[in-house]
Amino acid sequence: TPVRLARTLEIVTGALRPLAKVQNVTIATALAPEDLEILADEVQLQQVFTNLVSNAIKFTPGGGQIDVASLTRADADGTRWATVSVSDTGMGISSDEIAHIFTRFYRASNAMSGAVPGTGLGLAITQDIVQRHGGRIDVTSELGVGTTVTVNLPVGARGSQET
Ligand code: ATP
Ligand code: MG
Repeated sequence: TPVRLARTLEIVTGALRPLAKVQNVTIATALAPEDLEILADEVQLQQVFTNLVSNAIKFTPGGGQIDVASLTRADADGTRWATVSVSDTGMGISSDEIAHIFTRFYRASNAMSGAVPGTGLGLAITQDIVQRHGGRIDVTSELGVGTTVTVNLPVGARGSQET
């Protein structure tokens, strides 16, 4: 079913803002003006962004900020993509650990040393959902500076954009 991306991101960030506020972390959104629709299971799409924003909250010390941004672009063959990035000003992930964070049960040293609760399943599940919707997920991070997770998903159905 077509799921409205901006609405999904508003729901997820709205639901998590109280949790962020408790930690003195702010969540800002900068959403694409287009009303982008993703062919997705709505619950699973919400789960993707809930996992990413929850991670950003968990691994960002007080005073930090989380930015959730969406934009759209078309690639050479005309496929339209929605890009959603979740950036934080948190503790970051070391370059040698970043290769492992999508592995089931893997938790980087920031989770261990900070005694941050979790099972290490969130990103594995998130990557699985994104890939099953024809998308991809990427992470860049700098230790002590912050992390950006980017999700790319195809917009609408194949061929359904030519209206
Ligand atoms: P769960 O999601 O199952 O509650 P978790 O959050 O520890 O547990 P994942 O979401 O899979 O597990 O993330 C794996 C690890 O990647 C985390 O334990 C943490 O070390 C690191 N990580 C994930 N997101 C961030 C982030 N935004 N900033 C810093 N480290 C992160
Ligand atoms: Mg997690």
